[in-house]
Amino acid sequence: MPDGPLAIGVDIGGTKVAAGVVDAAGTVLRRTRRDTPHRSTSPRVVEDTIVSAVEELMGHGDDVVAVGIGAAGFVAADRATVVFAPHLSWRNEPLRAALGGRLALPIFVDNDANAAAWAEHRFGAGRGESHLVMVNLGTGIGGGIVLDGRVVRGRFGIAGEFGHMQVVPDGIRCECGNRGCWEQYASGNALVREARSLMSAGSPVVSDLFDRVGGDPGELTGPLVTEAARDGDPLARELLGEIGRWLGVGIADLAAALDPGTFVIGGGVSAAGDLLLDPARAAFRRQLTGRGYRPEAAIVAAQLGNEAGLVGAADLARVGAADLAWAEAVDRAERPSG
Ligand SMILES: [Zn+2]
Repeated sequence: MPDGPLAIGVDIGGTKVAAGVVDAAGTVLRRTRRDTPHRSTSPRVVEDTIVSAVEELMGHGDDVVAVGIGAAGFVAADRATVVFAPHLSWRNEPLRAALGGRLALPIFVDNDANAAAWAEHRFGAGRGESHLVMVNLGTGIGGGIVLDGRVVRGRFGIAGEFGHMQVVPDGIRCECGNRGCWEQYASGNALVREARSLMSAGSPVVSDLFDRVGGDPGELTGPLVTEAARDGDPLARELLGEIGRWLGVGIADLAAALDPGTFVIGGGVSAAGDLLLDPARAAFRRQLTGRGYRPEAAIVAAQLGNEAGLVGAADLARVGAADLAWAEAVDRAERPSG
């Protein structure tokens, strides 16, 4: 028996749309996926993709109460409009209104990292933690904030974009136009960039990594570095340690601003586990304001993996639909009768 009301979660990434029916315990009962249409295609094509995935899932007769969408981009605080999605053609796209005419269910749109943070808070590494910050290490750094058991979206919906906090004055140039952004030092891309630059310099210490990619630095990926580190390659471990150290430095800043009880680290690089997190914890302790005189937040690896966005979007929609129903009931009760 599925647990409680069901909701559909849709995770829209740069390369795929993943959707699933999720119960109130965070269990995914059914799944489907589509390739994300290329970024040059019209918003309508992306909408068609979402509608087709949701309709397929609805075809099984489940009693679904809402649809939640987690999108990689800036989502306005009204949870209806995608302000900007770098990998899609959405610019101020009224997604809820566009889908509302085609799907007869309440629709809630959120940033994908907010959805993932919510999922880890409800069902994953942050279960039972009221104050949680999630840091996702992918090509860049994304994040989500849950404080007092609520997602913090910010006045404009753009809270949690941690990747562009400056950690190094006049540091490495970032795509955003500034220098020294955190994601230039602690992301999956930073890991690969550092490993490739050592390989290209012909350093003899990279022979293990060279063997893994047949001598072609262009073939190197984050997971390959993690695999080498797991197999004991000292250089790969050092590279991950360096990423971890920068991770801890940025997390100390976030602790100063937000004071959560737990930091959940997700994204591809987090698969390295303690090879990444132990150096992060050590750097965090060295950097933390008031260290030794305050409780310290835990730094843990995410548990829900790639499904966090889908599960979190569904659960936020389920909760949102319940709030809507409650508000309507209150409204009816307060309306003068007769
Ligand atoms: Zn930047």
